[in-house]
Order: sequence, then C-alpha cells, then structure tokens
Amino acid sequence: MQCPQCQAPLAAGAKRCSSCGQTIRAYGGPPPVGGDATGGLIPYKNAPALTAYYLGLFSILPFLGIPMGIAAVVLGVMGLKKLRAEPRVKGKTHAYVGIGCGGLGALAWIGLLLLIFILPMLNTQ
Ligand SMILES: [Zn+2]
Repeated sequence: MQCPQCQAPLAAGAKRCSSCGQTIRAYGGPPPVGGDATGGLIPYKNAPALTAYYLGLFSILPFLGIPMGIAAVVLGVMGLKKLRAEPRVKGKTHAYVGIGCGGLGALAWIGLLLLIFILPMLNTQ
C-alpha cells in the first residue's frame, strides 16, 4: 500500500500518511465504520437475510419450527429484495438457506401434525 499523494509506503490499515500527513481513507481505502469487516461472510447489513438464516436453522425445533420456518421464508424473501435493491448488503446465501431450511422445516412439521391429528380422525370414521 502506498500514499496516493507522495507514494511513500504505508503501514497496513494506516489512516494517515506518516510522510505527508495525507488522510488515506478518503482515497478509496476500506469503507469507514459499518463496513463488512468480516469480508462479507456474515451479512450484518442484511438483517432480514441473517435473521432468516437463523430462523431457518431453528425450524428443526418441534412445533416452533412452523412459525419460525414461515418467518424464515418471509424474511428470506425480504432479504433477497433488499439485496436486489442494494447489492452491497450481501446475504444471498443466508437468505436462500433461510428460505430452504425454513420452508422445509415448516412443511415437515405441518405434514407431521397432519399425520398425527388428521389421519386418526379419518380412520375412526
Ligand atoms: Zn504521503
């Protein structure tokens, strides 16, 4: 990394050139506070996608999996819409995982409930 003004070598992450005093971040350095310090692995800025991801994972829980799975699908879709409007928020994978796991979880639990409660009723008639 070099100073854009005087070309002096800079320490990694330097905010200011030690040679000429130039502020470095103004020249296309890493984005200031709120940037993806994690390299975009965890989409902090795409809260719906991140929430969908965790709800999707937790949709394996009995009964809670139904509302959580449905919420995961809704939030996952919201996350994808947010991503389309603002590509830099990231979170595509998290949104898809949320939709996939949440949808499957909710359907699996609804199916199981139907089997448990509906089938015996049908059999007795
Ligand atoms: Zn400089």
